[in-house]
Amino acid sequence: MASRLTGFNSGLDIGKSYYVATANPAPDHPALAGDVDADLVVVGGGCTGLSAALHAAERGLKVVLLEGGKIGWGASGRNGGQMIPGLRKGAKGLVKSFGPERAKALFDLAFEARGLVLDIIERHGIECDLRLNGHLVGAVSASDVRDFEEEAECLAKVMKFTDVEILSAAEARQMVDTPYQGAVYERLGGHMHPLNYTLGLARAAVGAGVVIHENSVAVRLEREPSTRVFTDKGSVRARHVVLAGDALLKGLEPRVNSRIMPVGNYIVATEPLDERNVIPANVAVSDTLFVVNYYRMSADGRLLFGGGERYTPSPPADIAGFVRPHMEKTFPQLKGCRIDHAWGGLVSVTTSRLPHVGHYSEVYFAHGYSGKGVILSTLSGKLLAEAITGDASRLDLFSTLTPLPFPGGTALRGPLYVLGMLWYAMRDRLRH
Ligand SMILES: Cc1cc2nc3c(=O)[nH]c(=O)nc-3n(C[C@H](O)[C@H](O)[C@H](O)COP(=O)(O)OP(=O)(O)OC[C@H]3O[C@@H](n4cnc5c(N)ncnc54)[C@H](O)[C@@H]3O)c2cc1C
Repeated sequence: MASRLTGFNSGLDIGKSYYVATANPAPDHPALAGDVDADLVVVGGGCTGLSAALHAAERGLKVVLLEGGKIGWGASGRNGGQMIPGLRKGAKGLVKSFGPERAKALFDLAFEARGLVLDIIERHGIECDLRLNGHLVGAVSASDVRDFEEEAECLAKVMKFTDVEILSAAEARQMVDTPYQGAVYERLGGHMHPLNYTLGLARAAVGAGVVIHENSVAVRLEREPSTRVFTDKGSVRARHVVLAGDALLKGLEPRVNSRIMPVGNYIVATEPLDERNVIPANVAVSDTLFVVNYYRMSADGRLLFGGGERYTPSPPADIAGFVRPHMEKTFPQLKGCRIDHAWGGLVSVTTSRLPHVGHYSEVYFAHGYSGKGVILSTLSGKLLAEAITGDASRLDLFSTLTPLPFPGGTALRGPLYVLGMLWYAMRDRLRH
């Protein structure tokens, strides 16, 4: 595992993550050396890139995947592991933006992600601590419960989806030991060990014939005379390119980059809690704060708690100290408990909180899941592969979600975004 600890994107301490400490054994893949040809070159070894590669290879394409660090090095191997079906924007928001018919088509497509991930886990025998006990959203204020009721009504009426339940404060408390005003319980949610899922996806891709090169940062994309992606030690010439670098991509294709903003987000894993278990229902949990707290139990009984965001590129010097106050505010009974692991990652958000998926001629991309990409990334990768191999209908539907670019372009998006976020963060403090 030592080779996972240094290099590309190492500033956010993936080496100190609970996931690295409990990763299944996985092979190293040699860096690209020299010039090669393929049908498809994928940039990025997270779930988007690996899924695109797997599904394209299953359809007969010769695929080379370039990963700048190690497989699972980005958000896919560091996230909260919360499997939350659907999009970050709720049913009401989708209907408002797209009208009932298209909203339902988008909802149904996004929902397919859950079945796809479960199918991949089963087909490829991926051991990733999968728990399908549901996802609970805890209301920090009474008005959130009214929002839940309206959302549930829209889900039932427009989306014909009834797998959600509104819980009273007392019912919510039986599932998670913190005083919410009420909650919505999404029965089809769950959680998993995201790094082990990503490593399993890589194994499946290699099994389908994909050639993976780690420690191979794509530094340049050339379109003429042929499409070619360069690293500092070689190149891959291919008919199609998938850019799946998400928050880490930087500059290879400016039109892709202008619509996402990387935001630092941090997680801790406590010591095993044994009888102090705070989530008796073993569900994945998040709350209604704008700077969301999200948490769940690990397979060995630790609380994995994510909370707090930073809008500067550098992580806090003491990640555990940064997250602990959020955790202890939610669970005062865990005050002073030991924190064994602390790490961070970059979440890519868009202006609409909906993903940015599509293509500029032969250059395909999918990113910007805005904190809801654990399962959506696998689906997006599959949609890219479908489009590349001749059926773009579902990618075209998903690409109607295209968010507006951030105001101020790549230079000013940071400062302007920070101002906006700080306002929302202050509002959170007044509510909570
Ligand atoms: C801390 C954190 C918590 C989260 N929690 C949740 C959660 O609980 N539930 C949920 O649904 N979503 C969550 N998310 C979001 C989710 O993890 C992401 O949306 C998803 O993993 C994105 O997958 P991806 O494959 O598109 O990107 P990534 O997994 O980031 O993969 C991109 C890969 O591309 C590589 N790369 C980038 N540029 C280059 C280059 N030029 N050359 C070569 N390689 C390159 C990177 O090294 C990286 O490995 C969280 C994210 C973070 C950071």
